[in-house]
Amino acid sequence: MFDSSVRVRFCLYTAPRKGINMTFEELGLNPAILSAVTACGYTTPTPIQEQSIPIVLAGNDLIATAQTGTGKTAAFVLPALELLTKKSTLPGKGPRVLILAPTRELAGQVMESARNYGRGIRPRCGSILGGMPYREQLRLLSAPVDIIVATPGRLVDHIERGSIRLDRLELLVLDEADRMLDMGFSEDINKIVSRAPVDRQTLMFTATMEGDIARLAEKMMREPKRIQLAVSTSSHELIEQRLHVTDNLNHKKELLNHLVSDSELTRAIIFSATKRDADELSRELSRNGYPAAALHGDMTQMARNKTIDRMRRGGIRLLVATDVAARGLDVTGISHVINFDLPRFAEDYVHRIGRTGRAGATGIAISFASAGERNYLERIERFIGKKLPELQIAGHEPKTSIRKPVGRSGGPRKSGPGGPGGRFGKPAGGRDGQAKPWSKSAKPAGSAPRTAPAARREPVIEYRSRRPQA
Ligand code: AMP
Repeated sequence: MFDSSVRVRFCLYTAPRKGINMTFEELGLNPAILSAVTACGYTTPTPIQEQSIPIVLAGNDLIATAQTGTGKTAAFVLPALELLTKKSTLPGKGPRVLILAPTRELAGQVMESARNYGRGIRPRCGSILGGMPYREQLRLLSAPVDIIVATPGRLVDHIERGSIRLDRLELLVLDEADRMLDMGFSEDINKIVSRAPVDRQTLMFTATMEGDIARLAEKMMREPKRIQLAVSTSSHELIEQRLHVTDNLNHKKELLNHLVSDSELTRAIIFSATKRDADELSRELSRNGYPAAALHGDMTQMARNKTIDRMRRGGIRLLVATDVAARGLDVTGISHVINFDLPRFAEDYVHRIGRTGRAGATGIAISFASAGERNYLERIERFIGKKLPELQIAGHEPKTSIRKPVGRSGGPRKSGPGGPGGRFGKPAGGRDGQAKPWSKSAKPAGSAPRTAPAARREPVIEYRSRRPQA
């Protein structure tokens, strides 16, 4: 059973904190680690660091419900480095610290953090990732290693080949454990855990305790302490969130085509549910003259890195990605996030829209939702604690409604200040022949215009200019 003695509810560290003003020095970390932390520009620990580090340093197992952006990486990397300041008494060359991450991107970022925070200690560390050459990994494993950051599948490969042993392991960290289970890594994780010493220390970081996570934790942890960071959307204040109800795939494509033709959309990430859709959409967007590319888990690591690099350098305006690939993606200057398909998990919604509105910039997050995605929408709205405002584009209104009737009639406002003539209010894409048709499958220009839903129960807002005309 979980130890609930350390059950703390926090907002993200941007929220005001009452009475807690701990410093990194007070956490009792080695001076070499402290100076690396200072060199990173961190002055005070974030709440997750403040809570986790003492628990980990005391040798406890830990389950922390925390998302990316809370400083969770340092929350496990710093105490892991502290552990490495003491010599291992065990023979062998297997890792003393093993960090499992669901994706290569996240693993890459964790590795980078370990190198940054560990510069004063200089641990021998490296990553074992799928899609990367075996040769370098075998070289890494041929000598004693302190920290390994790995994706589960490739690590199991090495275990089965006999190129890595885990009998020297002191600390096992599962980063984004919920995501690993969701991606089907449960069997691999069990295999890895079965090769690790029973008296190891285990830390689990997860965005949610839903599903199989609790069962996994019970199986592999010993009286874990628990920290729960309430998910907050406060960091998303600068992001304008909008919803478009869509009738079908073609309708989604028409809307997307319309949105991407707007010059204020300088750089966007478009999330699709499947890898195939990501490929198809990016091909269609490229065909329509937009610098676009796909990013998903079937691509080699090298191809993914190249794509992210091109996006960073401005060579790609539209990145069509699946959640898996976008996890941990940190690109600045994303003006829009478009959820072409809604995520299955509400946490992912928060994570996705957080790709925009970074570093004090404003951002726009637009979600498409068809009738089949109503459950996902409701889950997201429950999770973020508010309804997404529904908007329509003149000439692209949905025929269907996604909201459950609330016993009140009222149609959408047809126009308002800046309405149809506003930023997104202009008719587009195949309706008036001005914009390029989306694809062969898109509804051809000149087809019967959609009519506003007659039986809509909730008022919706029509698009208007963000800066209303006086
Ligand atoms: P993470 O949640 O680990 O992905 O971290 C999110 C961001 O917070 C990263 O850019 C870190 O460099 C940064 N960060 C981590 N710890 C701190 C801290 N104590 N003070 C300021 N920034 C931090």
